[in-house]
Amino acid sequence: MRLVLLGPPGAGKGTQARLLMAKSDVVHVSAGDLLRQAVADGSEMGQTAKAIMAQGSLVPDEVVIGIIEERLRRPDCTSGYILDGFPRTLRQAEALSGVLRLLQAPLDWVISVEVSEDDLVRRLAGRRICRACGAMFHVDTKPPLQIGICDSCGDHLFQRDDDKEDTSRHRLRVYREQTEPLIAYYNTMGLLRRIDGRGTIEEIAQRVQQALGDG
Ligand code: AMP
Repeated sequence: MRLVLLGPPGAGKGTQARLLMAKSDVVHVSAGDLLRQAVADGSEMGQTAKAIMAQGSLVPDEVVIGIIEERLRRPDCTSGYILDGFPRTLRQAEALSGVLRLLQAPLDWVISVEVSEDDLVRRLAGRRICRACGAMFHVDTKPPLQIGICDSCGDHLFQRDDDKEDTSRHRLRVYREQTEPLIAYYNTMGLLRRIDGRGTIEEIAQRVQQALGDG
């Protein structure tokens, strides 16, 4: 299965990708995680990306395309992957189509997870992430048993700087302007499945399964 999860920040793409990964033999390729890793590694490219990400703007296309292309060529992607957070611009989508044509491995589906803007800001503002294992919590809807501590591994939870309200609203604007046009792009290619991203994690997971099954 080669799948793109499309949707605004806070739509639950990462959570759904992890659930799908647990069920099938696919890898989760998150553009945001790869960029955060590059920042943590302190590479020159990571330094450039850091300031842009802190503002909630998009890292230049050629940087992200290079990282994703390199990742998709690794052997573990041959059994399938879920792309999360890429593509985010038409140029990235066209570059992805080109790479997959070369690899003779076209996408199976693009799932667009749709949630209203007010819900997204609430979700992002309450989101807390484990520093060590990446597990996600929410202060209202999925609180950890002990405030600030991960249920899975006991490490500390943190809030991403770019999840704070002002930056979240900017990220949502960037999504509307630069990423939303991809819905029409993939619809024209006959790959798009739209799902309602409201409700519980389990309800959304069920809709994802239905969208894949109905294909
Ligand atoms: P995410 O974890 O997907 O919310 O991504 C966090 C940040 O990384 C975004 O706000 C962007 O600054 C950057 N980023 C992630 N994916 C991309 C992409 N495909 N193109 C450009 N910037 C990206």
